[in-house]
Amino acid sequence: MAKLTILEFPDPRLRKKATPVEAVDDRLRALIGDMFETMYAAPGIGLAATQVDVHKRLLITDISSDKSDPLVFINPEILEKDGVIVSDEGCLSVPGYYEEVERAEHIRVRYLDRNGDEKEMEAEGLLAVCIQHEIDHLDGKLFVDYISEAKRQRIRKKLQKERRTQPTTKVAKAI
Ligand code: ZN
Repeated sequence: MAKLTILEFPDPRLRKKATPVEAVDDRLRALIGDMFETMYAAPGIGLAATQVDVHKRLLITDISSDKSDPLVFINPEILEKDGVIVSDEGCLSVPGYYEEVERAEHIRVRYLDRNGDEKEMEAEGLLAVCIQHEIDHLDGKLFVDYISEAKRQRIRKKLQKERRTQPTTKVAKAI
């Protein structure tokens, strides 16, 4: 396995739209292994192939705190979404920035697993947010695209004020 380089905003390669994976083979599984090594080292809880300059529809997640829940989504497709969740999102490709983003609270997703078998999964909360964030990467979209410049400034000022008045204890996770 090898650690890969993560592209960082505003690298134009992050704007490429990924194409479907055609064969789930050993070459792809080697890439998946490298992506997990890269994500765990960062550390992060999700990584899309786009972020390591591979423009195929593949993403991985692990929202556990002990590397116990690695998930692989190949050619993911959201079938249903409902509810609203607003959370602070970070991104390994936009280091140091955390912004509030609104997503669907619950999704149903269809995908191929690392063996090429078709699966469906219901996800909610953090996992649902993570999958939606990573699918955006596959479409060349970044979480900062959801925020207006004015709102970005407001949030930044608010956070700076909070930092002046109290020590920050919040630990945000980058996806
Ligand atoms: Zn990201």
